[in-house]
Amino acid sequence: MSIAPEELAAEIRAQGLIVPTAVSGVVAQGRGFAEVADALVAAIRRLTAGVGEYLRFGAVMPRDQAVAMRYFANFPQLLGSIHCFCGSDAEHRALLRAHDAGEPWADALPPVELVLTPAACYPCYAILAARGAVPAAGYRLQVDATCFRHEPSDDPARLQSFRMQEVVAIGQPDAVVSFREHWLAASADFLARLGLEGDVAPADDPFFGRAAAVMAKAQRERELKFEWRTPVSDAARPTACLSANYHLDSFAKAFGLRFDDGSHAHSACVGFGVERIALALFRTHGMVAEAWPVEVVDLLRLEGTPRADIR
Ligand code: 5GP
Ligand code: ZN
Repeated sequence: MSIAPEELAAEIRAQGLIVPTAVSGVVAQGRGFAEVADALVAAIRRLTAGVGEYLRFGAVMPRDQAVAMRYFANFPQLLGSIHCFCGSDAEHRALLRAHDAGEPWADALPPVELVLTPAACYPCYAILAARGAVPAAGYRLQVDATCFRHEPSDDPARLQSFRMQEVVAIGQPDAVVSFREHWLAASADFLARLGLEGDVAPADDPFFGRAAAVMAKAQRERELKFEWRTPVSDAARPTACLSANYHLDSFAKAFGLRFDDGSHAHSACVGFGVERIALALFRTHGMVAEAWPVEVVDLLRLEGTPRADIR
């Protein structure tokens, strides 16, 4: 029994599937939601199993890599920076005195060598570059990460912290473009088999500042980004559940990913937004996963979860 997008947020909260915290866009997942999200992660891993090496990243990545990829330049509004106390006993006492006096104390936590991972594929390029020249056949990977973007919102489909799974290709331009086409089609087909209805459309990234419009226009003109979208929490503005990106040679240049002849490789990726797909499933099929169509339950291997445990 499908639910109108406008009613989704209230309904999933009423069912305890998503529990808000004091911060917009930061939520706890109830058991029913967490089980579907975990099942999706496993099903996507099965779907993409033949692609190549699998790497699961955590929530953080080296700061210098995000700088090399120009994330801080293009999306400073989204980047999360890690700051830690690294001081002496005396500096700790000064920090506590400042805190207890109601004075600013956060300067005692300087930035460290980490930022929060903005996209699942970002930490893989440096790892591959460290292996030497890119093999003629290129690289193919499956990656999985907890991602962060500072975009507080009460839309359940826009979280600050969310899981992303990607397939990634590094190689010759035509090979990575066909990889992107193949995996966009195969992933859209997977979502259709889950009973979701959506469409593929050209898209752009939320670049920051004065150059934003120019960069977004160039991205569309060069057909660098496509998204598979479906109405989740707003009927008028469908939500991107899959993204297919062609980075040209920009990430390869940032990390020195070159073939033997010295030419730079190109790269492309297709990413699944796990929580967004889970939300689309709850909206389309109803709040109790056990009652979803049998082919969806089978594809996600959800069977066997006792109803009493779903909540
Ligand atoms: P992109 O790098 O194209 O912005 O994001 C890749 C995928 O991650 C998107 O297609 C989407 O499925 C997921 N994603 C992006 N932003 C968010 C977000 O704010 N919340 C959630 N839950 N998923 C997101
Ligand atoms: Zn990517």
